[in-house]
Amino acid sequence: MLDLSKEIITVECDCGRSHSATFQDTINGRIINCSCGANIQLKDDGSVKKGVNEINKAFKDLENAFKKIGR
Ligand SMILES: [Zn+2]
Repeated sequence: MLDLSKEIITVECDCGRSHSATFQDTINGRIINCSCGANIQLKDDGSVKKGVNEINKAFKDLENAFKKIGR
């Protein structure tokens, strides 16, 4: 299992400032307080987990491909 929870993502506020957050923050629904006064609610709309699952699947396919070669 690939751990992407510590991957840094960039969240942009409507005011144009950029904030750094991790995937884990997104999954946890962390709130970023921007210095413009806005509160940005991070939420996992499923795309983060989906992305991780797809990467894991890709690795699995690769592993299967290697197994085939090994036969
Ligand atoms: Zn802002």
